[in-house]
Amino acid sequence: MRPAVPDGMLGNVPLMQSWVNALALSMAKDIKHTNAWRCEICSRPSRETKVDMASWVHLPEPRVVLYIHHLCEAGFNPCHAMIVAQGQIMGNIVGPGLPPEPWLPKPEGPDHQYPLAASCCGCQKDATASRKTSMSRCGGCKLVRYCR
Ligand SMILES: [Zn+2]
Ligand SMILES: [Zn+2]
Repeated sequence: MRPAVPDGMLGNVPLMQSWVNALALSMAKDIKHTNAWRCEICSRPSRETKVDMASWVHLPEPRVVLYIHHLCEAGFNPCHAMIVAQGQIMGNIVGPGLPPEPWLPKPEGPDHQYPLAASCCGCQKDATASRKTSMSRCGGCKLVRYCR
């Protein structure tokens, strides 16, 4: 993807970095809903993601690499802990990536779970994660899935 850098931002590393951070987090939310992803550690259906980023915003042609890890659950479970540890190792190599993610309260509802990655990006109902649901992909990015 090649998002246009807002005018006057090129060369201003701190400003550029905060713009990139916000863009990365907003894209990651949608990218979660691109397939019936499973937790990369335990293989249960994925409900949450952890985003790691390596960025080179000081270059004349800035580059950013996003790593979106699909997890059964973020928070205090072992799968999340493994990915956080991996991210720290990577951070030591490429320098600090995204600042720590803000702590989000668990969603309302009886089971306090986030929507399945396999579900529709729009309505995010777990029922849409069923293979019987016919999904279309976003016409713009060709990645994100929606129910009709
Ligand atoms: Zn897991
Ligand atoms: Zn839907």
